Amino acid sequence: MLNQASESLKKAKKVVFVTGAGISQESGIPTFRGKDGLWRNYDAMKLATIDAFYENPKLVWEWYNERRENIFQAEPNLGHKAIAELEEFFEVVVLTQNIDGLHQRAGSSKVLELHGSIVKIKCTVCDFNEETEYKFSQFPPLCNCGNILRPDVVWFGEGLPQNVWQEAIEHANNCDVMIIAGTSLVVSPANTLPFYAKQNNATLVEINPSETAMTPDMDLSIRATSATALPKLLSEIKNKN
Ligand code: NAD
Repeated sequence: MLNQASESLKKAKKVVFVTGAGISQESGIPTFRGKDGLWRNYDAMKLATIDAFYENPKLVWEWYNERRENIFQAEPNLGHKAIAELEEFFEVVVLTQNIDGLHQRAGSSKVLELHGSIVKIKCTVCDFNEETEYKFSQFPPLCNCGNILRPDVVWFGEGLPQNVWQEAIEHANNCDVMIIAGTSLVVSPANTLPFYAKQNNATLVEINPSETAMTPDMDLSIRATSATALPKLLSEIKNKN
Protein backbone atom coordinates (compact mmCIF):
# COMPACT_ATOMS: atom_id res chain seq x y z
CA MET A 1 0.00 0.00 0.00
CA LEU A 2 2.78 2.38 0.98
CA ASN A 3 4.58 1.70 -2.26
CA GLN A 4 1.43 2.36 -4.31
CA ALA A 5 0.86 5.58 -2.41
CA SER A 6 4.41 6.77 -3.08
CA GLU A 7 3.99 5.94 -6.80
CA SER A 8 0.94 8.25 -6.91
CA LEU A 9 2.83 10.94 -5.02
CA LYS A 10 5.74 10.74 -7.42
CA LYS A 11 3.47 11.84 -10.28
CA ALA A 12 1.63 14.49 -8.24
CA LYS A 13 1.98 18.25 -8.57
CA LYS A 14 -0.40 19.14 -5.77
CA VAL A 15 -1.13 17.09 -2.65
CA VAL A 16 -3.80 17.98 -0.10
CA PHE A 17 -3.74 16.53 3.41
CA VAL A 18 -6.96 16.31 5.40
CA THR A 19 -6.01 15.74 9.03
CA GLY A 20 -7.83 15.17 12.30
CA ALA A 21 -7.25 14.48 15.97
CA GLY A 22 -5.45 11.16 15.26
CA ILE A 23 -2.41 12.87 13.73
CA SER A 24 -1.73 14.61 17.05
CA GLN A 25 -2.43 11.52 19.17
CA GLU A 26 1.27 10.58 19.09
CA SER A 27 2.07 14.08 20.41
CA GLY A 28 0.07 13.19 23.53
CA ILE A 29 -3.13 15.04 22.59
CA PRO A 30 -6.23 12.88 23.14
CA THR A 31 -8.74 12.28 20.33
CA PHE A 32 -12.50 12.66 20.87
CA ARG A 33 -13.57 9.12 20.13
CA GLY A 34 -12.81 5.80 21.79
CA LYS A 35 -11.29 5.51 25.25
CA ASP A 36 -9.60 8.94 24.95
CA GLY A 37 -12.88 10.80 24.61
CA LEU A 38 -13.68 11.23 28.31
CA TRP A 39 -12.76 14.09 30.64
CA ARG A 40 -13.87 13.90 34.31
CA ASN A 41 -16.45 11.38 33.06
CA TYR A 42 -17.93 13.88 30.61
CA ASP A 43 -18.18 12.90 26.95
CA ALA A 44 -15.84 15.20 24.98
CA MET A 45 -18.28 15.14 22.06
CA LYS A 46 -20.94 16.68 24.31
CA LEU A 47 -18.63 19.27 25.87
CA ALA A 48 -17.39 20.61 22.54
CA THR A 49 -20.78 22.06 21.68
CA ILE A 50 -22.17 25.57 21.62
CA ASP A 51 -25.08 24.41 23.82
CA ALA A 52 -22.73 23.00 26.51
CA PHE A 53 -20.81 26.30 26.55
CA TYR A 54 -23.87 28.46 27.17
CA GLU A 55 -25.31 25.95 29.66
CA ASN A 56 -22.11 25.69 31.71
CA PRO A 57 -19.35 28.03 30.50
CA LYS A 58 -17.26 27.41 33.65
CA LEU A 59 -17.11 23.65 33.05
CA VAL A 60 -16.36 23.96 29.33
CA TRP A 61 -13.67 26.58 30.07
CA GLU A 62 -12.02 24.32 32.68
CA TRP A 63 -11.79 21.61 30.04
CA TYR A 64 -10.42 24.01 27.42
CA ASN A 65 -7.93 25.36 29.94
CA GLU A 66 -6.55 21.84 30.50
CA ARG A 67 -6.51 21.22 26.75
CA ARG A 68 -4.66 24.52 26.16
CA GLU A 69 -1.99 23.62 28.73
CA ASN A 70 -1.58 20.14 27.26
CA ILE A 71 -1.33 21.51 23.71
CA PHE A 72 1.17 24.24 24.63
CA GLN A 73 3.45 21.56 26.11
CA ALA A 74 3.06 19.16 23.17
CA GLU A 75 5.55 18.93 20.31
CA PRO A 76 4.87 18.13 16.65
CA ASN A 77 5.53 14.43 15.97
CA LEU A 78 7.20 12.66 13.03
CA GLY A 79 3.91 12.67 11.11
CA HIS A 80 3.51 16.47 11.26
CA LYS A 81 7.21 16.87 10.39
CA ALA A 82 7.04 14.53 7.38
CA ILE A 83 4.11 16.52 5.93
CA ALA A 84 6.14 19.73 6.28
CA GLU A 85 9.18 18.12 4.61
CA LEU A 86 7.11 16.89 1.66
CA GLU A 87 6.84 20.53 0.50
CA GLU A 88 10.26 19.97 -1.03
CA PHE A 89 8.75 17.66 -3.68
CA PHE A 90 5.33 19.09 -4.63
CA GLU A 91 2.78 21.71 -3.57
CA VAL A 92 1.30 20.72 -0.21
CA VAL A 93 -1.83 22.15 1.39
CA VAL A 94 -2.99 20.99 4.83
CA LEU A 95 -6.70 21.17 5.61
CA THR A 96 -6.89 20.38 9.30
CA GLN A 97 -9.77 19.85 11.68
CA ASN A 98 -7.28 20.24 14.52
CA ILE A 99 -7.13 23.31 16.68
CA ASP A 100 -3.67 22.64 18.14
CA GLY A 101 -1.39 24.53 15.72
CA LEU A 102 1.08 21.59 15.50
CA HIS A 103 1.23 21.54 11.67
CA GLN A 104 2.39 25.15 11.64
CA ARG A 105 4.90 24.46 14.43
CA ALA A 106 6.24 21.50 12.39
CA GLY A 107 6.94 23.90 9.51
CA SER A 108 4.00 23.44 7.13
CA SER A 109 3.58 26.72 5.26
CA LYS A 110 0.01 26.35 3.96
CA VAL A 111 -2.41 25.25 6.69
CA LEU A 112 -6.13 26.00 6.70
CA GLU A 113 -7.70 25.55 10.15
CA LEU A 114 -11.24 24.44 9.42
CA HIS A 115 -12.26 24.39 13.08
CA GLY A 116 -10.33 27.41 14.33
CA SER A 117 -7.55 27.52 16.89
CA ILE A 118 -7.37 26.90 20.63
CA VAL A 119 -4.52 29.44 20.83
CA LYS A 120 -6.93 32.22 19.86
CA ILE A 121 -9.43 33.69 22.30
CA LYS A 122 -12.35 35.83 21.23
CA CYS A 123 -15.17 37.75 22.89
CA THR A 124 -18.70 36.37 22.64
CA VAL A 125 -19.96 39.92 21.99
CA CYS A 126 -17.33 42.48 20.87
CA ASP A 127 -14.62 42.21 18.17
CA PHE A 128 -11.83 41.17 20.55
CA ASN A 129 -9.83 38.26 19.05
CA GLU A 130 -6.25 37.53 20.03
CA GLU A 131 -3.67 34.75 19.93
CA THR A 132 -2.50 34.20 23.51
CA GLU A 133 -0.88 31.55 25.68
CA TYR A 134 -2.06 33.48 28.78
CA LYS A 135 -2.99 31.14 31.65
CA PHE A 136 -6.47 32.09 32.76
CA SER A 137 -7.30 31.41 36.41
CA GLN A 138 -10.98 32.42 36.59
CA PHE A 139 -13.57 30.66 34.51
CA PRO A 140 -15.17 31.84 32.35
CA PRO A 141 -12.67 34.68 31.78
CA LEU A 142 -14.18 38.03 30.93
CA CYS A 143 -13.36 40.50 28.17
CA ASN A 144 -12.59 44.17 28.95
CA CYS A 145 -16.10 44.88 27.64
CA GLY A 146 -17.53 42.76 30.48
CA ASN A 147 -18.77 39.82 28.39
CA ILE A 148 -17.59 36.20 28.38
CA LEU A 149 -14.51 35.22 26.40
CA ARG A 150 -14.34 31.91 24.52
CA PRO A 151 -11.78 29.88 22.57
CA ASP A 152 -11.87 30.73 18.84
CA VAL A 153 -12.79 27.17 17.86
CA VAL A 154 -15.74 25.84 15.87
CA TRP A 155 -17.97 23.85 18.20
CA PHE A 156 -20.48 21.21 17.13
CA GLY A 157 -23.59 23.20 16.25
CA GLU A 158 -21.62 26.09 14.72
CA GLY A 159 -20.74 26.86 11.10
CA LEU A 160 -17.21 26.85 9.68
CA PRO A 161 -15.56 30.18 8.80
CA GLN A 162 -16.91 30.49 5.24
CA ASN A 163 -13.79 32.03 3.65
CA VAL A 164 -11.64 29.17 5.01
CA TRP A 165 -14.15 26.55 3.90
CA GLN A 166 -14.45 27.97 0.36
CA GLU A 167 -10.67 27.99 0.02
CA ALA A 168 -10.50 24.40 1.33
CA ILE A 169 -12.99 23.26 -1.33
CA GLU A 170 -10.92 24.94 -4.06
CA HIS A 171 -7.76 23.13 -2.95
CA ALA A 172 -9.61 19.81 -2.69
CA ASN A 173 -11.05 20.39 -6.16
CA ASN A 174 -7.69 20.68 -7.85
CA CYS A 175 -5.35 18.27 -6.07
CA ASP A 176 -3.81 15.15 -7.62
CA VAL A 177 -3.59 13.17 -4.38
CA MET A 178 -5.53 13.62 -1.14
CA ILE A 179 -4.07 12.01 1.99
CA ILE A 180 -6.55 11.68 4.81
CA ALA A 181 -4.68 11.10 8.08
CA GLY A 182 -5.96 10.60 11.61
CA THR A 183 -9.60 11.45 11.11
CA SER A 184 -12.69 9.32 11.57
CA LEU A 185 -14.32 11.35 8.76
CA VAL A 186 -17.60 11.55 10.60
CA VAL A 187 -17.59 15.31 11.22
CA SER A 188 -19.41 17.28 8.53
CA PRO A 189 -18.66 19.20 6.35
CA ALA A 190 -14.93 18.28 6.56
CA ASN A 191 -15.84 14.72 5.59
CA THR A 192 -17.10 15.91 2.19
CA LEU A 193 -13.60 17.07 1.12
CA PRO A 194 -12.62 13.66 -0.36
CA PHE A 195 -15.60 13.89 -2.74
CA TYR A 196 -14.37 17.23 -4.11
CA ALA A 197 -10.96 15.64 -4.71
CA LYS A 198 -12.56 12.64 -6.41
CA GLN A 199 -14.29 14.98 -8.88
CA ASN A 200 -10.76 15.89 -10.04
CA ASN A 201 -9.88 12.19 -10.30
CA ALA A 202 -7.46 12.53 -7.40
CA THR A 203 -6.11 9.42 -5.68
CA LEU A 204 -7.55 9.11 -2.18
CA VAL A 205 -5.21 7.65 0.45
CA GLU A 206 -6.25 7.03 4.04
CA ILE A 207 -3.74 6.69 6.89
CA ASN A 208 -5.44 5.35 9.98
CA PRO A 209 -4.87 2.28 12.19
CA SER A 210 -8.65 1.63 12.06
CA GLU A 211 -11.25 1.50 9.33
CA THR A 212 -13.32 4.66 8.91
CA ALA A 213 -16.81 5.37 7.65
CA MET A 214 -15.26 6.25 4.27
CA THR A 215 -12.78 3.39 3.86
CA PRO A 216 -14.86 1.96 0.95
CA ASP A 217 -14.39 5.27 -0.95
CA MET A 218 -10.59 5.21 -0.62
CA ASP A 219 -8.21 4.12 -3.38
CA LEU A 220 -5.61 3.08 -0.81
CA SER A 221 -5.82 2.49 2.94
CA ILE A 222 -2.63 2.38 4.99
CA ARG A 223 -3.33 0.72 8.34
CA ALA A 224 -0.68 2.33 10.51
CA THR A 225 -0.32 5.35 12.74
CA SER A 226 0.54 8.63 11.03
CA ALA A 227 3.88 9.03 12.84
CA THR A 228 4.87 5.61 11.44
CA ALA A 229 3.47 5.78 7.90
CA LEU A 230 4.23 9.38 6.93
CA PRO A 231 8.02 9.26 7.56
CA LYS A 232 8.11 6.00 5.54
CA LEU A 233 6.26 7.68 2.67
CA LEU A 234 8.68 10.61 2.87
CA SER A 235 11.73 8.34 2.65
CA GLU A 236 10.23 6.46 -0.34
CA ILE A 237 9.72 9.78 -2.12
CA LYS A 238 13.27 10.83 -1.28
CA ASN A 239 14.64 7.54 -2.65
CA LYS A 240 12.66 7.90 -5.87
CA ASN A 241 13.94 11.42 -6.58
P1 NAD B 1 -11.83 11.65 15.90
O1 NAD B 1 -11.49 11.67 17.36
O2 NAD B 1 -13.24 11.50 15.49
O3 NAD B 1 -11.06 10.45 15.19
C1 NAD B 1 -9.70 10.22 15.38
C2 NAD B 1 -9.28 9.24 14.30
O4 NAD B 1 -7.86 9.10 14.36
C3 NAD B 1 -9.86 7.82 14.47
O5 NAD B 1 -10.34 7.37 13.22
C4 NAD B 1 -8.67 6.99 14.93
O6 NAD B 1 -8.71 5.65 14.46
C5 NAD B 1 -7.52 7.74 14.30
N1 NAD B 1 -6.24 7.62 15.02
C6 NAD B 1 -6.03 7.46 16.35
N2 NAD B 1 -4.72 7.45 16.60
C7 NAD B 1 -4.09 7.63 15.40
C8 NAD B 1 -2.73 7.75 15.02
N3 NAD B 1 -1.75 7.69 15.92
N4 NAD B 1 -2.44 7.94 13.70
C9 NAD B 1 -3.43 8.03 12.78
N5 NAD B 1 -4.75 7.92 13.09
C10 NAD B 1 -5.06 7.75 14.39
O7 NAD B 1 -11.17 12.96 15.31
P2 NAD B 1 -11.61 13.88 14.10
O8 NAD B 1 -11.97 13.04 12.94
O9 NAD B 1 -10.55 14.90 13.98
O10 NAD B 1 -12.98 14.61 14.53
C11 NAD B 1 -13.32 15.07 15.78
C12 NAD B 1 -13.17 16.58 16.09
O11 NAD B 1 -12.22 16.59 17.11
C13 NAD B 1 -12.63 17.51 15.07
O12 NAD B 1 -13.58 18.49 14.88
C14 NAD B 1 -11.38 18.17 15.74
O13 NAD B 1 -11.50 19.58 15.65
C15 NAD B 1 -11.50 17.81 17.17
N6 NAD B 1 -10.29 17.50 17.94
C16 NAD B 1 -9.08 18.10 17.68
C17 NAD B 1 -7.97 17.78 18.43
C18 NAD B 1 -6.66 18.46 18.15
O14 NAD B 1 -6.65 19.63 17.73
N7 NAD B 1 -5.54 17.77 18.33
C19 NAD B 1 -8.06 16.81 19.43
C20 NAD B 1 -9.29 16.22 19.69
C21 NAD B 1 -10.39 16.56 18.92
